[in-house]
Amino acid sequence: MKTFCGRANPTTGAMEWLEEDEDYDYHQEIARSRYADMLHDKDRNVKYYQGIRAAVSRVKERGEKAIVLDIGTGTGLLSMMAASAGADFCYAIEVFKPMANAAVKIVEKNGFSDKIKVINKHSTEVTVGPDGDMQCRANILVTELFDTELIGEGALPTYEHAHKYLVQEGCEAVPHRATVYVQLVESKRMWSWNKLFPVHVEAADGEKIIVSPSEMENCPGVPSVCDIQLNQMPSSDFTILSDVVTMFSVDFSKPVKSASTYYRVQLDPVKSGKAQIVLSWWDIDMDPSGMINCTMAPYWVKSASAFQWRDHWMQCVYFLPNEEPVLQGEKVYLTACRDEYSVWYKLQKARGEEENKAAVRVESPVCRCQAHLLWNRPRFGQLNDENRTRQYMKSLMKVLKTDSVCLCISDGSLLPVLAHYLGAKQFFKANHLEDKIKIIEARPELLTSSHLEDKKISVLLGEPFFTTSLLPWHNLYFWYARTAVTSHLANNVTVLPQSASLHMMIVEFQDLWRIRSPCGICEGFDVQTMDDMIKNSLNFRESREAEPHPLWEYPCKSLSDPREVLTFDFRKTVPQHSLSTEGSVSLLRKGKSHGAVLWMEYHLVADISVNTGLLQISNEKGNCEWNPHCKQAVYFFSSVIESETLSDLPSAVTYAINFNPKTGDIAMDFKL
Ligand code: SAH
Repeated sequence: MKTFCGRANPTTGAMEWLEEDEDYDYHQEIARSRYADMLHDKDRNVKYYQGIRAAVSRVKERGEKAIVLDIGTGTGLLSMMAASAGADFCYAIEVFKPMANAAVKIVEKNGFSDKIKVINKHSTEVTVGPDGDMQCRANILVTELFDTELIGEGALPTYEHAHKYLVQEGCEAVPHRATVYVQLVESKRMWSWNKLFPVHVEAADGEKIIVSPSEMENCPGVPSVCDIQLNQMPSSDFTILSDVVTMFSVDFSKPVKSASTYYRVQLDPVKSGKAQIVLSWWDIDMDPSGMINCTMAPYWVKSASAFQWRDHWMQCVYFLPNEEPVLQGEKVYLTACRDEYSVWYKLQKARGEEENKAAVRVESPVCRCQAHLLWNRPRFGQLNDENRTRQYMKSLMKVLKTDSVCLCISDGSLLPVLAHYLGAKQFFKANHLEDKIKIIEARPELLTSSHLEDKKISVLLGEPFFTTSLLPWHNLYFWYARTAVTSHLANNVTVLPQSASLHMMIVEFQDLWRIRSPCGICEGFDVQTMDDMIKNSLNFRESREAEPHPLWEYPCKSLSDPREVLTFDFRKTVPQHSLSTEGSVSLLRKGKSHGAVLWMEYHLVADISVNTGLLQISNEKGNCEWNPHCKQAVYFFSSVIESETLSDLPSAVTYAINFNPKTGDIAMDFKL
């Protein structure tokens, strides 16, 4: 079956009706899924297996049959572990149909069809009884339903339901318990993802400071979790203000309550400073004794030997509603509030407040200033990047004249304010935020002369930045918008940025390769069916697609020099014909060519650029430093070329890259 799906093209801005294969969403979900990453997570798998073996033994020692309920079986891995450990029967529940189908195949291939029943349902739909999905309630509950925030994938309501309807009282649970830990820190870097810092503008008539409105200063922000690879955050970027403390824990072997609640702990600051951020992570104990523990603790908390790289579970950064000064030795109280799916934090100083339980409101924070809805965390960081702002200011000073009539096309941009302070008289801006500046609520193609008070635009500005952009080149929407407003531009218009270029480099990832790499055998179980399924989904489109990743979180080394592959001239309109390039890049270092990274550079004026990708190659090993506020595009090669010596490496990678102006897509192909 084919369906037509309407969507706004992020690059061209056009509303398009696409004929999508019914399976497209499935394939997208599988191609971008975390299953491969989980199967490569050796530490997780080994500990689940140990925990499951121990639980089966405990049940057998009681002389009972071991009946397992595995909620969210995925590949069927945990059920196969249970069956191998001697479980009498397993009910493997999986809501996502393609995965349930895969689980059936994998279970069969591994010879467990008589011991494992795969049920393609949400666990809350599962029935128990002689005619039900399950003959009887289970006495072992196995799940892996956790996200970085622990509860964000609905673990609590799922457990609550399972204890009421699907498992026996006193059942064994693997994991047995989860514990959430917190640590209070001060960090200008992380705080810059949540608040807009004052911007200093060197105007002709003295320094001006742009400050954010007070409603933004006092806004509690949005409750969505900020999950990052905290292990990539150097210790110089934050100051620890408290020890690590246990915030709350959940015993999965007992009935679980999912209703909103809060937990409170006392903290003794180990240092005076500004409390801004709560860093948080969790661990799971696979057995009641706590001997089999799988932890997400960051590098400064656990030993290097306990380190396991994974992307499906990271660490959380929570922003306190306001920064609070704390003094070493003066106790403070940290409250974690949670609903069924998310957690947020508050800090209180006085003991009185702590005792007044009524003072604790459990409602989740609501952004009052709009900025947290318009800008995500990296965007805040980008706007607070002083170096970046300086490049824009220097460029604006070069192009602005006192009689300039400016039009800015970018989402939630500070450029109009900067330009205003730097002396531009007339300002128009597509999209909103400030009020000294005329804001035009119209799409670029619907702009009329009356919007512009019959003036011609002498300076067209963009960062460019659009909230709809996922891949770096989606910001080429600026070029399409520029093309749409051509009739309003003066003959000698200045367009800033004047052009953009696409850059490419071949890399070896330290770890990120795992998320797209086949697993084969996992803890003795053949999961190749899953590998094939992922491969099939990745190849579902004729050409594989690049995917966005913030590479500051994912170390890699360059195997080739960076290369400029395409340029886009914003002084001209979008061309009718495709822009294509072909060539080859030499491999300069030995290593595994996992893929190519692509990014954009914007040339604001002749000699000033902003780079959204590779900032530098920091050493002779080829380690890369990436722009910390942007996602880069990663194109994973379908097979990895590995070599120990340079001489048996292919000396080059050939590429063909094509920009299609009709669709705004960039298609690429690489050959090793
Ligand atoms: N157990 C596997 C896969 C874990 S991923 C492993 O450990 O490798 C979690 C899986 O649970 C996903 O496939 C998701 O679709 C499924 N899932 C989540 N909540 C569920 C629920 N309440 N009922 C059934 N499936 C669920």
